[in-house]
Amino acid sequence: MNRHQVLSVREITPETFVIRMEKKGLQFQTGQFITVGDIRTGERREYSVYSGEQDDYLEILVREVQGGKVSGRLKRLKPGDQLEVDGPFGFFKFHPGMFLPPDFLFIATGTGISPFHSFVKTHPGMDYRLVHGVRYANEAYDHADFDSQRVVLCTSRDEAGHFKGRVSDYLRTLQLKPATHCFLCGNSQMIGDVFDILTGKGIPVSNIYSEVYF
Ligand SMILES: Cc1cc2nc3c(=O)[nH]c(=O)nc-3n(C[C@H](O)[C@H](O)[C@H](O)COP(=O)(O)OP(=O)(O)OC[C@H]3O[C@@H](n4cnc5c(N)ncnc54)[C@H](O)[C@@H]3O)c2cc1C
Repeated sequence: MNRHQVLSVREITPETFVIRMEKKGLQFQTGQFITVGDIRTGERREYSVYSGEQDDYLEILVREVQGGKVSGRLKRLKPGDQLEVDGPFGFFKFHPGMFLPPDFLFIATGTGISPFHSFVKTHPGMDYRLVHGVRYANEAYDHADFDSQRVVLCTSRDEAGHFKGRVSDYLRTLQLKPATHCFLCGNSQMIGDVFDILTGKGIPVSNIYSEVYF
């Protein structure tokens, strides 16, 4: 476990923010997560790395969960505060060369966009499509960092996205090539629903990779 100094806390919406912290030589493969904890309570939670492998800082994208023990504390951090960081952990690793053909479909709900932000930051110029499900269009976290031609924003509670409804509703409308590599990240309900839709469309189970947040 190491202590990393907070460099900045950038608010994206009233509930969601990006914490930038010192990297201190922590090497990770894009898609992995770290654990981040409060130095006073020692309580820790998992967060996907949001920054790219080459960046000289570490970032995480966090949504404050109502009544949550750690995410609310993270929101109150100020530059100069210290965090306990451990890792990297996990097998949701990504390098375009690991998956042939390099045809990628990334599917996220909410802050589940975080590893895909890191994928794209680390490997700019690759061929991908991103389907991001949120409630309201203002939760399109840092979509300017993605190629706008490759992103579909699905909004379940307003009409301001590209598609009104859940990611699962959108995916039901798509034709998919069976060789597509599908990466899923977010809540377990979405991952279960999307898994069934993808396999029903002929995507083999071996081409589906998932990271469950809660
Ligand atoms: C591998 C992994 C990677 C993760 N990466 C991220 C990430 O990049 N960004 C991020 O914001 N969170 C991420 N999480 C979730 C994170 O670890 C915490 O669970 C979350 O921040 C809540 O912690 P808390 O202490 O505030 O709430 P707690 O006191 O632990 O829990 C409160 C309740 O909220 C539920 N909950 C957890 N996350 C959410 C959520 N996003 N929305 C609604 N309810 C939720 C929990 O199931 C629990 O019932 C990840 C989880 C895992 C397992």
